[in-house]
Amino acid sequence: MTMWLLTKVASRAVSLSISSSSSNRCVLKETTRAVSIVFFHPLQNTPQPTTTKSSSDGRRWFSSSRRALHRVDSSASSSTSSSADALLEVVLLGIPSDVNSSFLRGSALAPPLICQALHSDATNSWSESPSMDILQDPNFIVDGGDITIDASLSSITPASHFEQIQTKVSEVLLSGPTTSNKKKTRRILSLGGDHSITYPILTTEAFAQHHGIRPKHPLTILHLDAHPDLYHNFQDNPYSHASPFARLLEASLENNNNNNNKNNSDDDTSCLVIGRLIQVGIRTMNDHQREQANKFGMVEVVTMATLEERHFDATLAAIKGIKGPLYLSLDVDVLDPAFAPGVSHPEPGGLSVRQVLQMIQAVRAPLIGADVIEYNPDCDVQGMTACVAAKLVKEIAAKMLTT
Ligand code: MN
Ligand code: MN
Repeated sequence: MTMWLLTKVASRAVSLSISSSSSNRCVLKETTRAVSIVFFHPLQNTPQPTTTKSSSDGRRWFSSSRRALHRVDSSASSSTSSSADALLEVVLLGIPSDVNSSFLRGSALAPPLICQALHSDATNSWSESPSMDILQDPNFIVDGGDITIDASLSSITPASHFEQIQTKVSEVLLSGPTTSNKKKTRRILSLGGDHSITYPILTTEAFAQHHGIRPKHPLTILHLDAHPDLYHNFQDNPYSHASPFARLLEASLENNNNNNNKNNSDDDTSCLVIGRLIQVGIRTMNDHQREQANKFGMVEVVTMATLEERHFDATLAAIKGIKGPLYLSLDVDVLDPAFAPGVSHPEPGGLSVRQVLQMIQAVRAPLIGADVIEYNPDCDVQGMTACVAAKLVKEIAAKMLTT
């Protein structure tokens, strides 16, 4: 693939110290009803009923009685299809943190507005491809609420509130329900917040454990953004929203080195190891961040210039070819401001909503987690960016349930 700019270099490491607590918000309606889980395999159109479950454990489910119920065959029991082993559940988790924004704050206001747009009567609750009524069926998506962020902690260090995020991420991943004697695999789709939150999410110990990430089974990150977010230390804040991928790659290289230094070379314990960071839609690359990309050696940059129309199909093919566990980090400013004006750093010349949807729909690798971040309601025009973010959330959730 000629459009992937691939570079290889060495490493350095950084460590994080953090402290504090967590809780919830962003409530929708509770329901209790018996339903079947239906999986749509991306390569087949026929729903595959897998098992039956009563959602009576008191969690807060997404519900919308105003829409036609997603009907499934409640008599269907455990299927012999391979999807019977893949009991997946997406948890929507609001992370209203914008203390590490560099120019404008406001993205902390985003999560409830995205939820509101998700359930607006202006649209229905179906994703496009795969076509699923993802909001109707409480077995598909769970409302994890919004994490309560104590912004005052940021006066201690810019990363002091990260423990609140990590505590909640752990709690969500470890508390998945058991259905027909099988524990569901939970996948978190977080709603930001500024881009700094991707670092605490992915460095949560339970994240690597839950998804089996380890040196021999590394994570690929697909990062859609106008900005590389690779600054070593932006405006004297190493945890700035302009730096999360520098910190993540450092953590990954440190984990890899630690593993290599162990006496037992067969030891392959879970920890965050990133095999590839694929950045798409970039249009603000500068010398410093180019050096950073080269230094880390696993960064592949697809700028908007290389994404001109003649290369777009090849980019979709490259996304289809991604193997292994995949995390999608979607900064809403990857979109052209004409489509999504509600961002703190509008950068003209970006992707269309349709192009981003095509990229999401091209994913074939197991999409084990995702974030939709940097929507800033203070900059929005008549809620159009909330509407776009909600559309992306539906499409990402459908892909997370079927890969
Ligand atoms: Mn970003
Ligand atoms: Mn950005």
